[in-house]
Amino acid sequence: MSFPASHHNHSQCTADLLGRAERTCERRGSRLTAQRREVLNCVAESHNAAGAYEIIERMASHGPRPAPITVYRALDFLLAHGLVHKVESRNAYVACSHSHDGEPAALLVCESCGLVAELDAPEVFTKLESSAKAQGFAPQRCIVEMTGRCGQCAGSA
Ligand SMILES: [Zn+2]
Ligand SMILES: [Zn+2]
Repeated sequence: MSFPASHHNHSQCTADLLGRAERTCERRGSRLTAQRREVLNCVAESHNAAGAYEIIERMASHGPRPAPITVYRALDFLLAHGLVHKVESRNAYVACSHSHDGEPAALLVCESCGLVAELDAPEVFTKLESSAKAQGFAPQRCIVEMTGRCGQCAGSA
């Protein structure tokens, strides 16, 4: 998965994501309530990671200001369904850019423009897990985040 081009058709990204969200929830028997949908829509407004506060601001800009707890609950739901990813190093969220069925993806975070892209690298996770197990460690969750500069920012430097 590469970084999105700066002038791509973003409304198409959002439409694809919302369609995927509907299908994922239906398949899993969960409900994409209006509130959850709205939170997803706001996270997806940009490919840059957004903190919870910014997501609340985005929601308030086109509707009533939500209570933080409802936003956190909706984010937990979206995280659990793989529709949103948490960028742990920034304490922020980004909409999932492609379907990867619960398989972990590494996150590439541009330190210059804030863009976040997903990198499919299952072999990295497998390797880390087997090395940890070899040490007698019982792995549960593995997060891989790489900071640096996206192609656009690296090119303009
Ligand atoms: Zn993803
Ligand atoms: Zn960048």
